[in-house]
Amino acid sequence: MFDDLNDLYQQVILDHSKCPRNFHKLDHATCTAQGHNPLCGDNVTLYLIMENNVIKDISFQGSGCAISKASASILTDSLKGKSAADVTALFDKVHAMVTTGKAGGDMGKLAVFAGVHKFPARVKCAILPWHAVVSAIDGNPEPVTTESQNG
Ligand code: ZN
Repeated sequence: MFDDLNDLYQQVILDHSKCPRNFHKLDHATCTAQGHNPLCGDNVTLYLIMENNVIKDISFQGSGCAISKASASILTDSLKGKSAADVTALFDKVHAMVTTGKAGGDMGKLAVFAGVHKFPARVKCAILPWHAVVSAIDGNPEPVTTESQNG
């Protein structure tokens, strides 16, 4: 499934999927959300501690394919210290990047997912944790599923 992915990007994704960062539960989370991608069987739960609308801490747990795990891992690494508005703006950029392959500005480590656009079935794996984090910030109590939204 990685045939067309740049080797370096592939290594980063495999590293994060094997050794996910922030892979634990936060006991004092102020927001949580679950995401489910039935097409692949990915499940992810995001835990956030929000203070004054800024993410003080963020972690996740779950099971799924390498792409969904790596996406959640890099997401948690990237979002500490970001505001709710930052997260929404970044969601739009990541969504555009994984569907078109074009990164809008400096995406940092998130750029490793640009190659995912060549694998339409994997786009939902990559974007799943992003749906979950937006849902957590919005305070949506329902689990999100990739099948109820457009990508
Ligand atoms: Zn998946």
